[in-house]
Amino acid sequence: MRKKIVAGNWKMNMDYNEGLTLFSEMIDLVKSEITGAQQAVVCSPFIHLHSLAQAATASDKVSIGAQNAHQAEVGAYTGEISAKMIKSVGAEYVILGHSERRQYFGETNELLAKKTDTVLKNSLIPIFCIGETLQEREANTHFDVIKAQLVEGVFHLEADAFAKLVIAYEPVWAIGTGVTASAEQAQEIHEFIRKEIATKYSQAVADEITILYGGSCNPKNAPELFAKADIDGGLIGGASLKARDFVDILK
Ligand code: PGA
Repeated sequence: MRKKIVAGNWKMNMDYNEGLTLFSEMIDLVKSEITGAQQAVVCSPFIHLHSLAQAATASDKVSIGAQNAHQAEVGAYTGEISAKMIKSVGAEYVILGHSERRQYFGETNELLAKKTDTVLKNSLIPIFCIGETLQEREANTHFDVIKAQLVEGVFHLEADAFAKLVIAYEPVWAIGTGVTASAEQAQEIHEFIRKEIATKYSQAVADEITILYGGSCNPKNAPELFAKADIDGGLIGGASLKARDFVDILK
């Protein structure tokens, strides 16, 4: 059985105290309402990680993640945060390759391949994001773009390392826009991703890997999206900033 995950991506929102308040509301709701096997992952700004990881010990259904990590292990990189540092405060996941990192910080597939290696080396789980822009979809190149992101970003891994990843499909045109991919559009891409993984590795690896959908996912559209055969949960931006909405999506 694949792991079912709903990951929240707070992005650059919430000062320290606001983040702690939001998290404590969320964890109370999870404790009283979530009885299934689903897992919540809260990916906060770095400043919250340590406190949230400590608070998360109250529930085995909640884990903590960062939103980025540097590709180097250690050194003179003023202002950066390493995977080892993230691990040392009790986080378990790291989002890599979010489209905002690709777009605003020039992160390429080649750089993300290095970041993936460093994150895995430090026993953290990458949530590796892929997805096409609107222009790419309109030009009918979305399958090629997604395949290249996989091949250049993560297909250099050996099967046992690859099997540790979580993949997130996030069409760029659906992120923060209120326009979600239809469940059929999302399923079509998830199925494609799983087939590519089966071809590269094996059917067993493809069957076991968790693939999340992200992009304007909310409590209303989550049930239809998550009912699809190849969609194993979501990566949630805006709706993760409200405890009630986030936990409703998790439900
Ligand atoms: P959104 O963001 O849910 O606000 O569209 C998703 C994401 O960027 O991960």
